[in-house]
Order: sequence, then structure tokens, then C-alpha cells
Amino acid sequence: MTVPFLDLASAYRELAPELDAAYRRVMDSARYILGGEVSRFETEFAAFCGVAHCVGVGNGLDALHLILRAYGIGAGDEVIVPSNTFVATWLAVTHSGATPVPVEPDPATYNIDPGRIEAAVTPRTKAIVPVHLYGQPADMDPILAIAEAHGLKVVEDAAQAHGAYYGDRLAGGLGHAAAFSFYPGKNLGALGDGGCVVTDDAVLAARVRELSNYGSTRKYHHETVGFNTRLDELQAAFLRVKLARCHEWNDRRRAIAGRYRVLLAEADLVLPEVIDRAVPVWHLFVVRVRQRERVERFLADRGITTLTHYPVPPSRSGAYAAMGIAAGTLPIAESLSHEVLSLPIGPHLPIDGVERVCEALLEALARDHVPG
Ligand SMILES: *Cc1c(COP(=O)(O)O)cnc(C)c1O
Repeated sequence: MTVPFLDLASAYRELAPELDAAYRRVMDSARYILGGEVSRFETEFAAFCGVAHCVGVGNGLDALHLILRAYGIGAGDEVIVPSNTFVATWLAVTHSGATPVPVEPDPATYNIDPGRIEAAVTPRTKAIVPVHLYGQPADMDPILAIAEAHGLKVVEDAAQAHGAYYGDRLAGGLGHAAAFSFYPGKNLGALGDGGCVVTDDAVLAARVRELSNYGSTRKYHHETVGFNTRLDELQAAFLRVKLARCHEWNDRRRAIAGRYRVLLAEADLVLPEVIDRAVPVWHLFVVRVRQRERVERFLADRGITTLTHYPVPPSRSGAYAAMGIAAGTLPIAESLSHEVLSLPIGPHLPIDGVERVCEALLEALARDHVPG
């Protein structure tokens, strides 16, 4: 028995009749761009998040980028981002023309440390982009308080957190606007690329919609220099099927995370911590181990696939070499990047698969143990 990292084939099989029907519906309609499926999905996903507006776009990176642009953020501005995140969070800021200003995470939750944000605020700061990393909401209350005090926008990067709760609100409804990705591996995944912006701000939603569609609100009338980044009908039709299962599939991920916690409670590794107000959706179940490469190889030899999110922080990547952020400047992000190990998790991972992973992991850690 092998344990894949994420079993997308089983995800399709479970929903095949409905997904195939959705495909037929779009083929029969012969509407492929900005038709009824997209607008119905937008209504349904806004309701899911508990916000007024949703605008489908081409992917999560574009969703973040268009929010920043729509707020008028650009050259000369600064945007606070986590030092440890997927590179897209930083790229969105860079594409807007603004400068990403990294803030280190709380090493227990991996999310941006609110206690370190204020020191990074300057007269040029326009926004904070907290990431709900691995599916756990960032600690939003203190972040919103800092934003309020300095007149900043809070833009959630919710690409890993569809359906996650912070208090009684869902990710996407916690800041001024939020970006989601529907990349196939996300908790709500399309069968191709997709993304959206959600917000209660009608003006922002209208600006994002215009920017995403050639800067146009009326066909062939272009009031602003826009882009072409839209959610397509086929993906919207698939997403409507999968949205109806999102909470249930997140529950299955929570059951797996719970099992990992029990079986690994005594293991020589660091388990993720959850803050009081958060109910994560476990997009990833990330532990920290010493000698990660040896542990990964040991698991791979037993047919278990693990991944690393992420092996290189944006500040140490070639894309940001020109910023000249020296090694050691962001020590928490850097040390996490050497230790984090993502274990298999997903709605189609059976519990005996979880047990297999833990058995092998405990054996690997016992072998790797270096006294002292
Ligand atoms: C996936 C992801 C994105 C980008 O989404 P795409 O749809 O792949 O462009 C942005 N931020 C985070 C944290 C992500 O995990």
C-alpha cells in the first residue's frame, strides 16, 4: 500500500456523476466565458464566505494582485507580507508595483506574528496581507487593530483556507478583501486554474471586475488599462459541485489531523499549534523534524509521499535576490524552511493510511535520533 500526498483521482471518482453532468451542462450551453455558471458560483461562494461580493478571476495570484491594484496600491507603496509564505503572496505585491515588506511568523503557528507588524509600518505602508497558512487563520483581531490605527487595508491571502473559521466568521470575511485560489490541490479545487476575490466593499468588487475583464464594464469600452484574468464557465460549474462538499471534506481533513496528533503525541518532532479562536481546515499538516531529508527518504522508501512547504523562503529565492535581503535577516522563516515536512492529508486519505505514515515516521525518527 502506497500513501500518495493527495489523491485527486479519488476526489474525481467520488463526484464523477455530478462533475460529468456539470461538464455536459456547459457544453450544451456553448457559453464558455462569463456566463451563468460563473455568476451563480460567485453568488454561492460569497454566501459561503458570509460576504456580499465575489468576483471570479483566473487564479489566486491574480486575485491578490487585482485587489492591490483596485485599492490604488503601486509604485512607492509598501505592503506587509509574511516572511514565510508561498511566493505568490510576494509576487502579487511586486506585480502591483509596490514593495513587499516581510514580517516574521510566530514559530508555533507559522502565521505572521502580529506583535512584529507595527515595527514594519512606515509612512509608505498601504496594506497588510496576512496569509492563513496551511489552513489556519492568522490571528486577525490584533492585525485589524494595527491596520485601523494606521489606516491600512487588510487583504487576506485565503488561498489555503476555504471554510476555515476564526471565531464565528469564515476566512474571506475577516479583512477588507480576500483572495482565494482554486488550484486543484487546494481545499476547494477546480480541475484547472481558478481564483476569486471576495469582499463586502461594492466599489472594490466593481473595480476588480473591471480590471479582470480588459478594464471594461461595457463591451469594447475600456476606461482603464485592464487585464484578462477570468474564471471560466467550465471551472465554475465544477466548483459549484465541489463547493457543496467543501465543509464535509474539510471535516475529513480535521479527522486526519486529529489522528496525526494522537499518534505523534510522543514523537520527537514539533506538531502545529492552533490558536484559541481558529478552526483550521488543514490544507497541509506540517510537522518540524531534524534531518528532514533523511526522514523524507525513509518514508519514500516505504511508499509514502511527503512534500516541503516551502524549501526556500521568498526572501532567499532568485526572484527577490535584487532586494538584497541577506541570509540571516529573517531567521525564523529560514529555519522553518529547513525543518518543515508536510505529511499526506486530504479527504480521501483512509485512516489506515494515516496509521501507516505515523508508524514509518516514528521508526524514521528513532533511527535518526542523535544522542545529545
Ligand atoms: C496557491 C497559493 C496562491 C496562489 O494561487 P494560484 O491559484 O496558484 O495562483 C497564493 N497564496 C498562497 C498562500 C497559496 O497557497
